[in-house]
Amino acid sequence: MDLSLSKDELELQARARAFADRVARPRAAAVDRDEQYPWDIVTALAEAGFTGMTIPKELGGQGRSFLDAVLVTEEMAKACTVTSRIVVETNMGAISTVMAYGTDEQKRLAAKLVIAGDKPAICITEPDAGSDATAMTTRADKRGDIFVINGRKHWITGAGVSKLHLIFARVFDERGKELGIGGFLAVRDEAKGLRVTKREKTMGLRGMPEGELTFENLEVPASMVVMPPSGFRRGFAELMNAYNSQRVGAGTVAMGVAAGALDQALEWAKTREQFGRPIGEFQGLQWMLADMQTQLTASRLMLYAAARSRGPGGSAFPDPMLAAQAKIHAAETAIKIVNDALQIFGARGYSRDLPLERMARDVRMFTIGGGTAQVLRTLVASKMLGWKLPQTRGGYAPKPSMRDAAE
Ligand SMILES: Cc1cc2nc3c(=O)[nH]c(=O)nc-3n(C[C@H](O)[C@H](O)[C@H](O)COP(=O)(O)OP(=O)(O)OC[C@H]3O[C@@H](n4cnc5c(N)ncnc54)[C@H](O)[C@@H]3O)c2cc1C
Repeated sequence: MDLSLSKDELELQARARAFADRVARPRAAAVDRDEQYPWDIVTALAEAGFTGMTIPKELGGQGRSFLDAVLVTEEMAKACTVTSRIVVETNMGAISTVMAYGTDEQKRLAAKLVIAGDKPAICITEPDAGSDATAMTTRADKRGDIFVINGRKHWITGAGVSKLHLIFARVFDERGKELGIGGFLAVRDEAKGLRVTKREKTMGLRGMPEGELTFENLEVPASMVVMPPSGFRRGFAELMNAYNSQRVGAGTVAMGVAAGALDQALEWAKTREQFGRPIGEFQGLQWMLADMQTQLTASRLMLYAAARSRGPGGSAFPDPMLAAQAKIHAAETAIKIVNDALQIFGARGYSRDLPLERMARDVRMFTIGGGTAQVLRTLVASKMLGWKLPQTRGGYAPKPSMRDAAE
């Protein structure tokens, strides 16, 4: 696979880097300190054409590739993690799911909101249904032409700022028979019965609200059900597989934060002197820097390859194996790289006057959200072993029964 970048990709990358330095970097510390969603950056991202880039041209987007979104995400992540997450969520994830399986009406609705800067919220996790997502209890009951949704989700990114919500719920027909798990689109403010009931006190990524959502008789028209080809019964796995693009995006945020931290550590190693010479002359630090660069390059290559890949049957989404491996590697090594960068700064690295401590808090999330590193390993191993497993967050349930489920 040729991983070199085209002229157009290099130009986009340079434009994103200039935006990140001019708009995102100067705001990053305040976004963290004030714990405020950066609406000014959202407006600037939309005006610069960095939101909804992957939406097809006929819907008002630019028809750009996932690799384009990855290149922009990486540059933003070097400067401000929250900004880079906005780029991911407006180009990959819930929006990709709607573009793949939505009706024309749903696609038009989502495209309009997202191109203007709305970061869609994807609502799966519940207090008793985390990695085991299919244990969710939120339910959608069919009543004529509408579905009535009741339940509670937590740790939903964008709670209180997102307009478009993709809500997952167990679906029941009018006789109370369960049909499977479905995805429903609702727009906050227009939809009565959707309330933000708590904001999580997060360790990092503090400018991006994580919250609890409560649905009380939330009415969603049947026309707002996002229906994958196999319907409700196997639909959850298809909807979640569409999520492989988000996984590549999340891994890229982690990799970009690590790249930003390494840039700073490298500069410091050249200029900080102890024992009469730059600390970069000590082999102990040289080997640290070399390891950091090696891990970073591996993550970047894996993410680019995953972004360019196609899932089984020429799917519109990245290959699940490559996406999972790239996210595991990028997230785990980014935590180590940022931590080592902080170490190279000595006491200064531990100060809130420098961005390293913020980056260390931010990057810690990426082995958890969007499928934990452990659950993604289960996905990778199950594919290696050739076992087809029941549905869960990774598309596969890590249950003892998995051997029985082998095809
Ligand atoms: C910042 C952030 C943003 C998030 N955003 C969203 C969002 O927008 N929408 C949404 O729906 N959710 C979101 N989540 C929730 C996230 O997807 C879940 O936290 C994640 O799936 C894990 O669920 P859990 O936290 O309940 O952990 P649990 O499932 O309880 O897991 C606890 C630990 O056990 C391990 N574990 C569990 N099962 C297994 C197994 N079978 N084998 C090995 N290890 C296992 C896990 O890896 C983990 O280490 C977000 C989380 C965070 C931190």
